[in-house]
Amino acid sequence: MMLSVIIKRTFVPGGFPIKYIDEIFKAIDLLNVDSKYVPREGQENLMLDIGEAMQGEAVLMAEAGVGIGKSFAYLIPGLIRSKRLKKPLIVSSSSIQLTEQLVGDIEAVSQILSTNFTYVVGKGRTNYLCYARYKSGNKHKDLTDILTLQEEWKTGFIKPMEKKKWCVDNCLFNQCEYRNSCDFYNMRQNLKPRYTSSVDCIIVNHNLLVEDLKKKVKLHQPGLIQEGHSIVLDEAHKFEDIVRDAFNIKINIKMVKRMERAIKDLEFDLGLNLKTMRLLTEFLEDFNRELIKIYAIEGKYILGNRLDIKELMSMKFKDMNLLLAKFNTMKSELRYLDFKDSKEKVYDELDEMIGTIIDYFESIGPEVSVYWAIYEKIFDVNGLALCSAPKEINKIIYELLFENQKSIILTSATLGGNVPINSAINQNRAYYEYQTQALGLPESTIYSTPQKSPYNYEENTLVYLPSMDIDVREDSMSNDIANEIIQLANIMDGRTLILFTSKKQMESVYGGMLLRKDTFTWKLLKQEDNGSVNRLREEFSSQKAVLLSTGAFWEGINIKGPELSCLIVVKLPYPVPDPVIKYKASTNPLVHEAEMMIKLKQGTGRLIRSEMDLGIIAILDHRIKAKKYILQSLPFRNVTEEISVVKGFVENKMAQYLSEQR
Ligand code: SF4
Repeated sequence: MMLSVIIKRTFVPGGFPIKYIDEIFKAIDLLNVDSKYVPREGQENLMLDIGEAMQGEAVLMAEAGVGIGKSFAYLIPGLIRSKRLKKPLIVSSSSIQLTEQLVGDIEAVSQILSTNFTYVVGKGRTNYLCYARYKSGNKHKDLTDILTLQEEWKTGFIKPMEKKKWCVDNCLFNQCEYRNSCDFYNMRQNLKPRYTSSVDCIIVNHNLLVEDLKKKVKLHQPGLIQEGHSIVLDEAHKFEDIVRDAFNIKINIKMVKRMERAIKDLEFDLGLNLKTMRLLTEFLEDFNRELIKIYAIEGKYILGNRLDIKELMSMKFKDMNLLLAKFNTMKSELRYLDFKDSKEKVYDELDEMIGTIIDYFESIGPEVSVYWAIYEKIFDVNGLALCSAPKEINKIIYELLFENQKSIILTSATLGGNVPINSAINQNRAYYEYQTQALGLPESTIYSTPQKSPYNYEENTLVYLPSMDIDVREDSMSNDIANEIIQLANIMDGRTLILFTSKKQMESVYGGMLLRKDTFTWKLLKQEDNGSVNRLREEFSSQKAVLLSTGAFWEGINIKGPELSCLIVVKLPYPVPDPVIKYKASTNPLVHEAEMMIKLKQGTGRLIRSEMDLGIIAILDHRIKAKKYILQSLPFRNVTEEISVVKGFVENKMAQYLSEQR
């Protein structure tokens, strides 16, 4: 059966001799006889689809279910291609875990194919600790402290705020005394064309790739990607957001302070320019006061959300025009400033920051941008940023990527879904319709048949939808939600991860559970704002625990075995209708359902992480019963509304499995 699937393929003649595909077949044979690997039809199909696309220099979109082994499916054809053409394969992903896994996978592929494939790894600047920045903020501390911090950084145990504080911001490069022991500096050296031209694979994350593409397209600087390179975008469903972030123009008080320091340092018409900076500070302070009035009731729960400021902005056009005129004047005057050679970096930075402010004010008003405010510290002007990003991110992606590059593979476990659409286009294309639009894919894109996960969901999982309809959108339902969770977690004896879409609801349910703490014996954990996700994951896995979580736990958490045997989705993860989502919905009616499906598939994908895993999925949001296509898009097939059936499944099917927990 499997052989006939493969033999029936027709190959597109491209820039390769037909032997290229033969080599992929040979690699599949080698993989199949290696006792360390389980043959998977989905992986082989995907590998051949990717090989054909690489041979035909085409853009391919391919969804690969959890456990397919998609990294082997693109590394094998990609690395064979890179050896043949002497052009490195570029693999970009969005998570550190995947980047690290890819390093191991390349070494494994080298062994299987008895070929030494070489690689370099690069990540975006926020993934590296800057020694110089740390030292300037901790003058009294010595190198031992930095080494401890570096260790926490590498294990992922570092707290998010610490990471933000000490990550690379403005690198001094060759002028930095710490450069020889700096991972960021060394990474940038390794990514120079004279090194990358001789490696077989360049592993990067999306942030670095986008930063590089942006420089290449906007500043016409040579980048990582050269003509003839083949690119794989893994976790491609994240790419649109990462491009939006990269093009987001942001102004905040931190920037104002840096500008003031630079103006003083350059002695640049101090009286006039510091007065202009004061006006900008007042503009931000005024905004902060107005936002407090609007969002006071929601309090800390708006942290990190994109807040709608369209109406507020419309009342401030006069102030903005005044500021725009003043910063335009400042920029012109700066051109004629005499400054010492030693101040060149300060001058360039100031010039860039003035440009950012002008770009920001120019972007407000015309219908080309979407804009919002965001708080990092609640209702504190020092933690407020005003942001603006282009509306049509798909056109930018097209310009950055598809216009100049031919061989591009986009893959992920969540690229499509059975979102109901009226479309005359072919079935595969319809399945990927949302991402096709969001990522600006060219007409010539090939759509691979989605490859299903090889795991036996039918035998190994049970979906529980409570028979009593709880309106999980209502604040007053927190106690009912807490009761459902406790009931399920008691059946599972802990081992339960709960995914919330809002911190407010999570805290309210947590409060309800604490009131009933005499009804359970497992450890109750809750994700905290500034806690390390890795540390919390370890704490959860090391005991019988129930973890209430949001955000990061919906994606990228990999807990195999009985430690995680029950996953509860409280509310279907429809996106918050913030300015970006509102704009997207105005141009693409699929947005709400499609974004929800991507997140739901990612979230529920946390439960079964290997062939051996068994588990219960509970979805408390009763809307799922009316929208049949949601469950049809998920791999689970056994569904019950009876808690007694859940109990029976756990006692009969899972007892032995659960007893294996250390
Ligand atoms: S080389 Fe750059 S990133 Fe590294 S420590 Fe120095 S300034 Fe920081």
